Amino acid sequence: MSNLQHKTDVILIGAGIMSATLGSLLKELAPDWEIKVFEKLASAGEESSNEWNNAGTGHAALCELNYTSEKPDGSIDISKAVKVNEQFQMSRQFWSYLVNSNLIRHPQDFIMPLPHMSLVQGEKNVAFLKKRFKALSTIPLFQGMAFSDDPEKLKEWVPLIMEGRTSKEPIAATKIDSGTDVNFGALTRMLFQHLEKQNVEINYKHLVKDMKRTDDGLWEVKVQKVESGKIEFHTAKFVFIGGGGGSLPLLQKTGISESKRIGGFPVSGLFLVCKNPEVAERHHAKVYGKAKVGAPPMSVPHLDTRYIDNKKSLLFGPFAGFSPKFLKTGSNVDLLGSVKPHNLLTMLAAGAKELALTKYLIQQVLLSKEKRMDELREFMPNAKSEDWEVVLAGQRVQVIKDTDAGGKGTLQFGTEVVSAADGSIAALLGASPGASTAVHVMLEVLEKCFPQHMFEWEAKIKDMIPSYGVSLAENSALFRELHHSTAEALGLSERQLVYS
Ligand SMILES: Cc1cc2nc3c(=O)[nH]c(=O)nc-3n(C[C@H](O)[C@H](O)[C@H](O)COP(=O)(O)OP(=O)(O)OC[C@H]3O[C@@H](n4cnc5c(N)ncnc54)[C@H](O)[C@@H]3O)c2cc1C
Repeated sequence: MSNLQHKTDVILIGAGIMSATLGSLLKELAPDWEIKVFEKLASAGEESSNEWNNAGTGHAALCELNYTSEKPDGSIDISKAVKVNEQFQMSRQFWSYLVNSNLIRHPQDFIMPLPHMSLVQGEKNVAFLKKRFKALSTIPLFQGMAFSDDPEKLKEWVPLIMEGRTSKEPIAATKIDSGTDVNFGALTRMLFQHLEKQNVEINYKHLVKDMKRTDDGLWEVKVQKVESGKIEFHTAKFVFIGGGGGSLPLLQKTGISESKRIGGFPVSGLFLVCKNPEVAERHHAKVYGKAKVGAPPMSVPHLDTRYIDNKKSLLFGPFAGFSPKFLKTGSNVDLLGSVKPHNLLTMLAAGAKELALTKYLIQQVLLSKEKRMDELREFMPNAKSEDWEVVLAGQRVQVIKDTDAGGKGTLQFGTEVVSAADGSIAALLGASPGASTAVHVMLEVLEKCFPQHMFEWEAKIKDMIPSYGVSLAENSALFRELHHSTAEALGLSERQLVYS
């Protein structure tokens, strides 16, 4: 049975952090636009954005070593770290705007101050960390970072990591107190509650099955009610595909030329979670190490304090793995179903190039809990198996495309906005740096899809996100002012004192 529905201005597919952010931006910029959301699950933030499905790191390049690389001349390239940090500052500003405007409340329910640390072992790695520290210390965005290779100091910073350590190898760490732990699940739910109050129609248990262009230039979206199986058709002037891992198959259904020759490679994640409160109480930081040789950048091991449901817990991982599903709640035929005549060669080329990665991921899936505990013990020598349990995290679908630099079938580790030339539809693919930079990425969607409105919207965007269009790395006074005001609005300054 079919049912033709009214047309609307905007359809957002998926109720994750990306649709939540885009909807919230649009409600401020174009309050009269009618917005509908379709989500296949029963509530918001249940897939990758859920607090147990990601690591909750407010990625600002304060601790992630993969954002700084060593150049052939031995110097450190910090350009990516600066970019990621500036993007995270935009998220802080937008969240602060929402709190200051009483559109969302209780920021302590989604963001907590938490030191971010990088920790390395071995002479070469220690030398790299020292150079990285020196390079970052010249930039205001990273001010307050400390370096130590003194085991006594490290015992103060990370007692659980130092206790029982017998290795005589040199060890060093950097520490910066202005890091954060973000509960992206809670934030997503808050933003959808706010959108509901702003008359956005949110349809849970509605699966988007197909999309096509109508003769009058609109998009017709075919939606199935999960419980009754009933089919509905909704039309919109603009559609955002925010389906997380499920975005690629939906993008392919649009048939737009920009969707061709793109593939996806799913990487699953597992964490070890410590629920023993006595152990969790003795660690207070996100501590990022170095990825093992052959491991993809998203499986850099880290030992994190997490604040979820007002409880402190510890999380270690993520262990990468292979699953053909594009979503945690996806299907085993997702990967196969995404291979189309137009991306077959790209996918085959990637398959041939990434054999080592596939082998690594399959080996990771087969690890027993004890083997995973052994990896944790490289971080925390005295970790006891009975304190830790394995939890399944979210799926990340990495983009595969042909690039000038990498050639046919190159695996990408970043996020990509793919949009139609006329700006009527856009999709977000990839998952890194991820939720932390949602505001920056959704502003990119607006710039690509609504260029005709950007002049009119610019003043409001700058009111919400004062660093929009400005390099904070080159404007230290503005950075300090915004860092201070966002810390106040999000309650980070006083809680930093309470918890550290
Ligand atoms: C293991 C792991 C660790 C991570 N760690 C971090 C971190 O520390 N910091 C960070 O910033 N980011 C991190 N990320 C990335 C971050 O979680 C994602 O970038 C972000 O949550 C993606 O949000 P989204 O809204 O695009 O997707 P999702 O949150 O996955 O939401 C997509 C929604 O679309 C729905 N959907 C899909 N298809 C359909 C359809 N056909 N019809 C209707 N609904 C549909 C899904 O049910 C889902 O609710 C991590 C990710 C993983 C997997």
